Amino acid sequence: MDQALQALKKYFGYEAFRPLQAEIISHIAQGKDALVLMPTGGGKSVCYQIPAIILPGTCIVVSPLISLMKDQVDGLLTNGIKAAFLNSSISSAAQNKVEQAFYEGNLDLLYVSPEKLVSPGFFSLLRRNKINMFAIDEAHCISAWGHDFRPEYTQLQFLKRDFPEVPVVALTATADRVTRNDIVQQLDLAQPAQFIASFDRPNISLEVRPGQKRLEQILAFLKSHQHQSGIIYCLSRKNTEDLAAKLKEKGYPTAFYHAGMSDEARSKVQDDFIHDRTPIICATVAFGMGIDKSNVRWIIHYNMPKNIEGFYQEIGRSGRDGAPADTMLFYSYQDYTILEDILQKPENENQEVQLAKLERMKQYAETLVCRRRTLLNYFNEPYTENCGNCDVCRNPPQYFDGTVLAQKALSAIYRLREKVGMNLLIDILRGSNRKEIFENGFDQVKTYGAGRELSSAEWQHHLQHLLSAGYIEIAHDEHHVIKLTPSSQAVLFDGAKVSLVKMNTWRDRQEADKEKVKQVPGAKLSADRELFELLRQVRLQLSRDKGIPPYLIFHDATLEEMSALKPLNEMEMLRVSGVGERKLRDFGSEFITAILEYLGKKGNTPQGSTYQITLEMLQSGMDAETIAMKRGLGIGTVFNHLINLIEKGIKIDIDTLVDRSEQKAVLALAAQLEEPYRLKEFFETLDEEVPYHKISLVLANYQQQKLEKL
Ligand code: ADP
Ligand code: ZN
Repeated sequence: MDQALQALKKYFGYEAFRPLQAEIISHIAQGKDALVLMPTGGGKSVCYQIPAIILPGTCIVVSPLISLMKDQVDGLLTNGIKAAFLNSSISSAAQNKVEQAFYEGNLDLLYVSPEKLVSPGFFSLLRRNKINMFAIDEAHCISAWGHDFRPEYTQLQFLKRDFPEVPVVALTATADRVTRNDIVQQLDLAQPAQFIASFDRPNISLEVRPGQKRLEQILAFLKSHQHQSGIIYCLSRKNTEDLAAKLKEKGYPTAFYHAGMSDEARSKVQDDFIHDRTPIICATVAFGMGIDKSNVRWIIHYNMPKNIEGFYQEIGRSGRDGAPADTMLFYSYQDYTILEDILQKPENENQEVQLAKLERMKQYAETLVCRRRTLLNYFNEPYTENCGNCDVCRNPPQYFDGTVLAQKALSAIYRLREKVGMNLLIDILRGSNRKEIFENGFDQVKTYGAGRELSSAEWQHHLQHLLSAGYIEIAHDEHHVIKLTPSSQAVLFDGAKVSLVKMNTWRDRQEADKEKVKQVPGAKLSADRELFELLRQVRLQLSRDKGIPPYLIFHDATLEEMSALKPLNEMEMLRVSGVGERKLRDFGSEFITAILEYLGKKGNTPQGSTYQITLEMLQSGMDAETIAMKRGLGIGTVFNHLINLIEKGIKIDIDTLVDRSEQKAVLALAAQLEEPYRLKEFFETLDEEVPYHKISLVLANYQQQKLEKL
């Protein structure tokens, strides 16, 4: 396990394993089969990547998402891990190269598509080198019970049959008990241990907002999430296009994405998103599936999803790096009835189950207890605390005596003979001039206009609550009209009291949020926003230069930590979580330089001077030419900085700056010549081969040493 931890540090730059990772790794290393169930972003890949690195041989990773493979492999390569992939998308020349690397034992991980794995000829390839494990990613695809069934996956039984000594580990983020058993059976795993991690994603904040003035609310949200990547899920294609246009108009770089677009257009949107060129995407649920982007910072649901499974999967696409992510769901009763109507269409199979799931989704949106509790309990994970990172926890419901209010509503329903739906009821209560009201004589009803004092939104809110508390019901088979219940009779006729929850407008909530100091899980240190922004720019530039997505260079979480810790040299940089040895070598100096410059500009370096920055850069391993280039200074100026420092008594190792032989020549001459020295004399006597700045530096160092000896 020591070796595993060392590899985690060396290659990934992480200090410690997450829950279950260490257990899983040691289990696999003993050659045993395993089934791993972890939420998206939980850290599944590390569970097979670490054993793949430390065990002799190659790990074969079966992954159904061809679009992800390149990304995954690029990610491993930037960490200095030997990996490659084989699927239908690569040329035969590239394929030969990969196969060669495999035969020569030069691969720790080989990703293959299931089609490739079961294709003729592949079997003999597998026989030609040692395989230390098979990792089956997205293992739920094996089960017809699951939602992404892949027929090729059902042929994977041959792995255990033909390679009985090689452990198989199956990994998935979505699998109920039935699917889990199916996976074990179909892969023919030998009494596998099942590792089931918590599905909680504590760094993801949860919030539900009333579905009014959505655009206005989104704009306010975006204002406080500048430059961050996020997705807005909409119900319809048209909706994605309209919303994207509106956000663009307001100056936010936004694109839309839906299944009605050409493949080409879609992959461009996806690519621009991955590379942080277009941070905001308005999309239907089709978007996000084949994306591993770790720095999605927020998710908004413009409309309520059909079930909690889908909802959780979609919000789970944010915050994979473990840094805080915000999610927001708009909810209105209308959205619910629209979905209900869709699901109730006769051609829709499996209606009952789907309607029940929709009902649970609605309950989530309306819940008055901690939302995370509601979610996790839905997934049968006992969770009894209040999370502190949802809107209910942040603004606990405030109850008030709503008896009079309830009486007004219930009596209106009674007098309207239970014949109207929610919207019309509200309009009648508020005394609106809507045409139907007069046509039907509803203005003659005694309660017409009895509820003018409340806004429509407030009535919505209270009626929803009356509904979930059982005071009214909705007859979905009669155009969703509102009906009374035995509980409402008690209120109307027996003087029963009703307590309701005060409605917080979203402005109230924002105020309340501001007052509370956010203690968000995942935000370990307080990052310096300005520096973070700078580091993000450095990352973006590097990403463009190298042609890899920014998040593969460093996660947001890593940049956050960098901007808080402000490492000024390689040792300090290595301490930042997410900085491994390879990335330090490839990218470290760029980020150190940016931090140094930032501190220099702010006058925050220990001495606040430009000399100090040069010194720090030198100590971080850069040579004088690099420093000059990065700082946009002449080489002479850089040397001048160093000379100044030497004269102040600061020790600098000048061997990296001036060749030993040149130093010797200068010193030999210094012993012969009289002080005060004239540089020109040195320059000429040494055949103009040692430049002035080097001569000065050597002399400054020499004189300083003489002084110290006195
Ligand atoms: P999954 O495959 O389960 O969706 P990943 O394996 O991609 O999740 O991991 C999610 C993120 O968490 C990645 O950015 C990964 O680098 C990071 N991560 C994994 N293990 C650790 C760890 N032990 N410490 C810190 N970060 C980790
Ligand atoms: Zn909560």
